[in-house]
Amino acid sequence: MKIKAAVAREAGGQFSVEGIDLADPNDDELLVQIVATGICHTDLSIVDQIMPLPLPFVLGHEGAGVVEKVGANVSGYEPGDHVVLTFNTCGACAPCSDSHPAYCEQYMPLNFMGRRLDGSPTLHAESGEAIGGGFFSQSSFATYSLAQARNAIKIRKDVPLELMGPLGCGYLTGAGTVMNVLRPGPDTTLAVFGAGAVGMAALMAAKAMNAGKIIAVDRVESRLALARELGASDSINTADQDLAGELAELGGIDQGVDTSGVPALISTAADALKTRGTLTLLGASKEPQVTLNVLPLISGKVIRGVVNGDCDPVAIIPQLIEMYLDGSFPMDKLAGFYSLEQINEAVADTHSGKTIKPILKMDE
Ligand SMILES: [Zn+2]
Ligand SMILES: [Zn+2]
Repeated sequence: MKIKAAVAREAGGQFSVEGIDLADPNDDELLVQIVATGICHTDLSIVDQIMPLPLPFVLGHEGAGVVEKVGANVSGYEPGDHVVLTFNTCGACAPCSDSHPAYCEQYMPLNFMGRRLDGSPTLHAESGEAIGGGFFSQSSFATYSLAQARNAIKIRKDVPLELMGPLGCGYLTGAGTVMNVLRPGPDTTLAVFGAGAVGMAALMAAKAMNAGKIIAVDRVESRLALARELGASDSINTADQDLAGELAELGGIDQGVDTSGVPALISTAADALKTRGTLTLLGASKEPQVTLNVLPLISGKVIRGVVNGDCDPVAIIPQLIEMYLDGSFPMDKLAGFYSLEQINEAVADTHSGKTIKPILKMDE
């Protein structure tokens, strides 16, 4: 079928919005009409070739939409179901069987191969050229996506679909890290390094779990203002404040969530950990080498990486929607809406810090 999609063609270049062909769903797939999709840093890291997947590619992995067709082998779905698309997993390997699907052994081929597992492409330009698709089993910078049962999470129909897409990646990553891995309590001082969408989701989850002190760290003042509105008790602007000194003045941290991947920030965060504290690493930057001061780490401190909040999307996505409805996960405060044609403007606004979570709406 003919669809409209934003195609990444050149490393570091702009997206081009084009009419392309989407293959028919096979027996294991769902055809989903995309209502809206978030833009996440992982999309941009492929455009910039920090993750060097071969271009051209249709990216997008925070899609939300309506099921239109259901493959013969897919049970439990019917046309009209509302779904949030998330990362795909095999459901059968050891991590999947042990309720840690974010560490699925098939994670790379299922989410990044650009084709079906049998090697067939699902997207073609009008010229006949194959285009990378199936990104996170969705490629949702498009009016339609092919998804699978394991990465299409059914949600209630009485919530605005255009807000829900980022639950599939950015929000579950930040919130899941706090709710599943760190589990702060009233005596916990938790710091979030980088107040973008993932950091804000972590902060909202920490607030919902009644963390005692929540510190937001960023270098954009408008983000810190929003972080305080969302529940940060303290904020540090690294553009004009000494991070190590400020963290020491606040008594150090029990838990940290680094979303920046910036080596200097990670070293400072590790130094600020209190005895038996834990620092989680959620993002990487172009410079992945970090210098660590080992001696103080020996006092029971933990530095651990976390993928996708170490969560089961089937559990956490509906849970976060309930928290949104009861006011404890106000994700609407993060969203800025754009049309698919405005994708390059949306990317520029996320780089400048103007928009925390850009969401492309397909009907505009
Ligand atoms: Zn698996
Ligand atoms: Zn993402």
